[in-house]
Amino acid sequence: MTPNPCTNLNHRRTESPVRCCPQCGAVVNGRIATRRCSEGNHARSRRNQNLFCVDCGDMLRHGSSPIAPLRA
Ligand SMILES: [Zn+2]
Ligand SMILES: [Zn+2]
Repeated sequence: MTPNPCTNLNHRRTESPVRCCPQCGAVVNGRIATRRCSEGNHARSRRNQNLFCVDCGDMLRHGSSPIAPLRA
């Protein structure tokens, strides 16, 4: 049985240092407040190979996510 298909280690942590999982965008630590992100923050996050922003949970790679392809 797999509760969440995501293998990111943030899901296994009791207290994750980030609010959202960079791989699936799910909230892993709801005690961290959502931050207002700048485009620069997202650009840096993108360079770190993140699919989702760990601060606000926004999808960073529109149209190229291997999890949810959004090609119209
Ligand atoms: Zn995840
Ligand atoms: Zn963000």
